[in-house]
Amino acid sequence: MANRAYNFNAGPAALPLEVLQKAQQEFVEFDNSGMSLMEMSHRGAIYEKVHYEAEKLLKELLGVPDGYKVLFVQGGASTQFAMIPMNLLRPGTKAAYVATGSWATKAIQEAKLFGETVVAASSEANAYKHIPAIGELNVPADAAYVHLTSNETIEGTQWSEYPDTGSIPLIGDLSSDILCRPINVSQFGMIYAGAQKNLGPSGVTIVIIREDLIAKPSLTVPTMLRYDTHAKADSLYNTPPTFAIYMAGEVLKWVKANGGAAGMEARNREKADLLYGTIDDSQGYYRGFAERGSRSLMNVTFRLATEELEKLFVKESEAQGFVGLKGHRSVGGLRASIYNAVPVESVRALEDFMRDFQQRNG
Ligand SMILES: *Cc1c(COP(=O)(O)O)cnc(C)c1O
Repeated sequence: MANRAYNFNAGPAALPLEVLQKAQQEFVEFDNSGMSLMEMSHRGAIYEKVHYEAEKLLKELLGVPDGYKVLFVQGGASTQFAMIPMNLLRPGTKAAYVATGSWATKAIQEAKLFGETVVAASSEANAYKHIPAIGELNVPADAAYVHLTSNETIEGTQWSEYPDTGSIPLIGDLSSDILCRPINVSQFGMIYAGAQKNLGPSGVTIVIIREDLIAKPSLTVPTMLRYDTHAKADSLYNTPPTFAIYMAGEVLKWVKANGGAAGMEARNREKADLLYGTIDDSQGYYRGFAERGSRSLMNVTFRLATEELEKLFVKESEAQGFVGLKGHRSVGGLRASIYNAVPVESVRALEDFMRDFQQRNG
């Protein structure tokens, strides 16, 4: 078997080994077709089966109710930052955002290009170390939607429950925590996620959108940037990223075989408890960045007393086979991303390393 690193990359990130091995088996010749999946038409029966199966599994695993469309689009979650206001922010309405950190800020900046935005709540004054309490949200009555970032990948914070925004559609960026736990899709008007953290390789972005939000498209939006274009064509309006969708489908099969969203949550809690437990047991040697009530199940962020020690931590960890533990360049520190596919064995190895490092450098 390949020599697998302890992969804590933030994205693109670890994929299940079983999925990689199955894809390898099917790589050169897919389904007795005499060619790889990448070499065949997206209009053919073989690809269509892959496409609709991935869509069906996503609906099943997330419990997507009737009345929603599941779309596969390109351009990453970052393109959704623009598509959302382009399609949904109409004249005379405002776009409300919860400012929780780096990704929420990028979403807000993009919306400002298209209309009036308001910040419904913010944790900026606390360096984005927490998720604002639901009761703090101040949403204007003429808001077209409320946008939140379910998991702030860089700061390592996560919503533990979502607000009820009544008749105003709630939009969630779930790029770094989709399928990490069960959610109630009907609380949202729209959910979106780039695939490369929890669902597969980069190149495909999932959009789940309530049908009434695409019923009256804004006709000045370019065709490819309109949700109704992709909804009407079952995400086959133009050539979709076929290989990325195939890989996402295989990851979804793996999620299903491992207990679905609830199985993922149990796995993720076990991993997160190991690392946060190590931080909390360290008597201040490791300092968790996020406040306890807002800690992420997916990205564990922490600091050491000095940047020198943090550099040493990264260097020694790399020498022992750990990858991706350096924090994002914008906030520094250390970060262990423990998405669905990261095995608990990798996390146990990291825990051992952290305890050992503290003993040697305490
Ligand atoms: C990674 C990430 C993005 C950006 O995704 P791209 O697909 O690279 O555009 C947006 N939001 C969150 C929460 C992310 O983690």
